[in-house]
Amino acid sequence: MRCKHSCTGETKKTIKHNYLTVLVCRTVFQEELHYYRRAGEIARRTLEYATKIVKPGVKVLDVCERLEKKIIELGGKPAFPVNISINSIAAHYSPPINDSSIIPDNSLVKVDVGVHINGFIADTALTIALGRVDENLVIAAAEALRRAEEKLSPHVSTKDIGAVIEETIRRYGYRPISNLCGHQISKYDLHAGKVIPNIKVPIGSKLGKNTVYAIEPFSTNGAGYVVETREAHIFRLFRVKKIKKKTLYNKSIVQFILKEFNTLPFSLRWLQNIYDDINKLYFDIDRLIESKILYKYPVLVEARKGLVAQAEDTLVILEKDVVNLTNVLSLVI
Ligand code: MN
Ligand code: MN
Repeated sequence: MRCKHSCTGETKKTIKHNYLTVLVCRTVFQEELHYYRRAGEIARRTLEYATKIVKPGVKVLDVCERLEKKIIELGGKPAFPVNISINSIAAHYSPPINDSSIIPDNSLVKVDVGVHINGFIADTALTIALGRVDENLVIAAAEALRRAEEKLSPHVSTKDIGAVIEETIRRYGYRPISNLCGHQISKYDLHAGKVIPNIKVPIGSKLGKNTVYAIEPFSTNGAGYVVETREAHIFRLFRVKKIKKKTLYNKSIVQFILKEFNTLPFSLRWLQNIYDDINKLYFDIDRLIESKILYKYPVLVEARKGLVAQAEDTLVILEKDVVNLTNVLSLVI
């Protein structure tokens, strides 16, 4: 019996007997599940709050800060900066320091929230339609998520999920975004192992039991893929082992990031207070990106500037059961 990724290394090493391994695996996963559930509940409640405060004319930065504050008030930590991606911006927009952008009327506002408890992450997103805008795009993404979730079991292949997502979105007359995917999640790792495509692909692999996945269909009336912009406001450390081998330009800032965010994504807003001079922060970050210690996430925009909607849940796949940690469709439909 193989121990799944979610069990700790020590468990695998110290318990040799097969039967015992199964037992210990089960207990360890039960404890992890408890943290996952809490993270999921906090993420869902944060998105619920988002549906109340996202309004035309409100500053994106204010919404974002209130949501991140909410996560902490509810007892979680942000697993990444809250993303507020509007209209043809598909993903990875989190307001930078002093951002003055305003939520426009007649727009699609995607709010993507990540919460973790001790490194166990729930990742969830919804789209808020403001004013006169094509709401069917929102329904298409939500319906694709619902149909994908109906298929889930340890034995289903990632390619079958991709197929049902594409088919559902196309039935509404839109395109899925082909180069954005759902993803497996493990401790302190937002994009771990397998991906869940949003389109029909020839090869897949089974989800497996005691695994955690975020499923996130994106629908668009544009070209059906995203391109990178030159803008980036979200960063993360590369894996810890790699960092140790490098000669660090500035050890203290790297140590701070590692301690506070581990290898999870962060915003420069969260480093603002430890610098007297904001330009020094930008300078340090640029050096760390150049030396490949930090990774930056460029803002992703629809290739033909089409409108984009998204719906995302995080789910735990157990042997005979699937636990929806975030249940975002209860907020959308
Ligand atoms: Mn997300
Ligand atoms: Mn995700």
